[in-house]
Amino acid sequence: MSKKLLLKHDATPNLNRLDVYKQCGGYASAEKVLKQMTSEQIVEEVKTSGLRGRGGAGFPTGMKWSFLAKPPGVPRYLVCNADESEPGTFKDRYLMQRNPHLLVEGMLYSSFALGANTGFIYIRGEYFYIVPILEKAIAEAKAAGYLGNNILGTGYNLELHVQVGAGAYICGEETALLESLEGKRGNPRMKPPFPAVAGLYGCPTVVNNVETIASVVPIMNDGGAAYAALGVGKSTGTKLISASGHINKPGVYEIEMGKVSVEDFIFSDEYCGGIWKGRKLKAVVAGGSSVPVLPTELILRNANGEPRMMSYESLGDGGFITGTMLGSGGFIVMDDTVNIAENLYTFNRFYHHESCGQCSPCREGTGWMEKVSHKIINGHGKKSDIDLLWDLQTKIDGKTICPLGEAASWPVASAIRHFRADFEALVN
Ligand code: SF4
Repeated sequence: MSKKLLLKHDATPNLNRLDVYKQCGGYASAEKVLKQMTSEQIVEEVKTSGLRGRGGAGFPTGMKWSFLAKPPGVPRYLVCNADESEPGTFKDRYLMQRNPHLLVEGMLYSSFALGANTGFIYIRGEYFYIVPILEKAIAEAKAAGYLGNNILGTGYNLELHVQVGAGAYICGEETALLESLEGKRGNPRMKPPFPAVAGLYGCPTVVNNVETIASVVPIMNDGGAAYAALGVGKSTGTKLISASGHINKPGVYEIEMGKVSVEDFIFSDEYCGGIWKGRKLKAVVAGGSSVPVLPTELILRNANGEPRMMSYESLGDGGFITGTMLGSGGFIVMDDTVNIAENLYTFNRFYHHESCGQCSPCREGTGWMEKVSHKIINGHGKKSDIDLLWDLQTKIDGKTICPLGEAASWPVASAIRHFRADFEALVN
């Protein structure tokens, strides 16, 4: 059984209450972190832990923190990205709903490390029912002296605010999120400058995902080295996986990175419990809708026949030709009744709808891909439309301001690469 850090006390009733959270060891490191550690020491511990951003990109968190500019007299901000919009991903929702103090405690340590006195939790509009849960946790933490002025008598001040988005996928992109947080349309910014230099209100800002910030708590409790001792290689610690689709036990699971094979994750009773209705596995989207879809033979084993493990490196083995990505951990399982061309249409429609429209390849290309795949799945397509679809994704990938272009292209490329027969079965 995988070691649990974030879901360790998941079965405890009323874990969202401060008293219960504290009984489970919550805020146990607050005195140590705020009174005995310097900002630099906290950043070093996070670097030692090897923690990588859990939103999807997997960028090393400690390194991201160390890029933060520190011009004198200029405020710095920590922004928690709780916009979780990647289809197939719902682990941050689960964490915030059941254990909001873990995020608040993580915000406290992270903000202190960054020298930020104001933090924001930017949450997607569809999660409106979680807002009061977060606000109650913030109020409880403030009343107990973990937020507000002169926290635990240290002289350190921190205010946290919850900001609700309006339900746009693109606001999960960190600069679009910052635009939205400033009250503007959520259009991604050209980079550089990066948020670490000019972020919220033009000030140095770190944007981290919910799970990333929550993971700072066990790192502060046990030390960066203890966290790095979990997992394999550069996939350290644990990861929350949102498992959905044609499985017997959909839900949120915490796995130790690199210690659980994809096969065990899908078929063992500890996790997904196998494919539903006694059917066969056909395909998996392992890291949210943007990552390449893989057929059974490539998701269970890499091109060399070695078992694939649940880690950044193992899932990525083979690049985009025979591999995929861990991404956000949105693990979507499809059985042998699914036609991947039909599944792809759903993704194409989604990305077209969510394109902000700033760059032509994305604005026009996602629309074309939706139209062509609609034609194919409705029996009006020709073989040449499959090639047109392929050509379209090559015109978007790598040619846009933000990663939505790639997010829209990669599912198309992988679906045609691995499941061309599904398309051919539908065209004339
Ligand atoms: Fe907007 Fe798409 Fe360009 Fe991103 S890639 S900035 S979503 S048009």
